[in-house]
Amino acid sequence: MTGEIIAFAEQREGALKKSAREVVTTAAKLGKELGAGVVAVAFAEGAVEGAGGLGRCGATEVLLAQGNGSAACARALADLARERQARAVLLPASAAGKDIAPRVAALLEVPQASDCVRLSAAAGSIEAVRPVYGGKALWTVKSRASCFLATLRPNVFPADESLGAALEPVRLPAPAGTPATLATLKEVLAPQGGRRIEVTEADVIVAGGRGMKGPEHFALLERLAEALGGTVGASRAAVDAGWRPHAEQIGQTGKTVAPTLYVACGISGAIQHLAGMSSSRVIVAINKDPEAPIFKVADYGVVGDVLEVVPALTEEVKKAKAAG
Ligand SMILES: Cc1cc2nc3c(=O)[nH]c(=O)nc-3n(C[C@H](O)[C@H](O)[C@H](O)COP(=O)(O)OP(=O)(O)OC[C@H]3O[C@@H](n4cnc5c(N)ncnc54)[C@H](O)[C@@H]3O)c2cc1C
Repeated sequence: MTGEIIAFAEQREGALKKSAREVVTTAAKLGKELGAGVVAVAFAEGAVEGAGGLGRCGATEVLLAQGNGSAACARALADLARERQARAVLLPASAAGKDIAPRVAALLEVPQASDCVRLSAAAGSIEAVRPVYGGKALWTVKSRASCFLATLRPNVFPADESLGAALEPVRLPAPAGTPATLATLKEVLAPQGGRRIEVTEADVIVAGGRGMKGPEHFALLERLAEALGGTVGASRAAVDAGWRPHAEQIGQTGKTVAPTLYVACGISGAIQHLAGMSSSRVIVAINKDPEAPIFKVADYGVVGDVLEVVPALTEEVKKAKAAG
């Protein structure tokens, strides 16, 4: 078959990432409008748990390919896109997706629509909407290229596992002759303190800023995050102070997140922070300054001391959960 949509299904350590289902579902919805099939591609040496289940998200084919490092994955995706005369190639706007997509763009000589929050097709033409100027404006972009290349903001496009049936993944043969690449992946190091839910994939984020007063108080946020089934994020001030790792930084120079619930604790709401979290569905702000700009984007606000409000909130969440 040709004219399909290729969906990059990101995996880590043999398990699909949440974004894989989001990207495949979005590709399937687009495919329905365009009358195109969806080829889901996961790169892994061994099996990928749940890969066949991508058929339920609408994939018409699930391929397991070999690709050591971003350059090799990009080459394989570009080769597949050429071979299938793909209408579109979609990736998540995750660290891996952001690394691979521009390489695919260069190899296919097509433009890239980055960090899209909407994707649609009308009259056979694909259109994407992406935030610009730190989320202050939205651009609608079209491409005249035959293949539409886009990265999708994680957590924005819902996954739907009712669009098809599970498939048997097919392993692609290793490419003949290994092309020279500048870098290959040697090892994946686990973050200090063990693997946590990544902020870009979390449904609930409890983020702390300078108002937390020190690294020791982030334990309060860990407890609230645990009670809510979420993860901890941080403002740049907290990261620059060495209180939290950079992987948790949210904002213009950190990660862009779109969780269902974002609890901002002791964060003022500088534009560079808002750029990374303003598309969260529900925003709760806890700040002792009633004039803090974060309250302008918050759905719910608590004016008070985080060191008092957060433990009280955690207790209430626990009580509510215990009461069912
Ligand atoms: C190029 C550039 C890129 C940037 N990228 C990012 C980015 O990616 N992410 C990011 O976050 N920032 C980024 N920044 C920095 C940004 O401008 C702000 O400086 C930063 O977001 C401030 O972090 P904060 O809100 O934690 O600290 P502050 O602005 O100092 O705010 C602390 C807040 O805590 C409140 N507070 C204090 N004590 C308490 C208490 N006991 N209880 C309740 N509230 C309390 C205060 O009222 C205040 O509102 C960037 C800046 C530049 C120039």
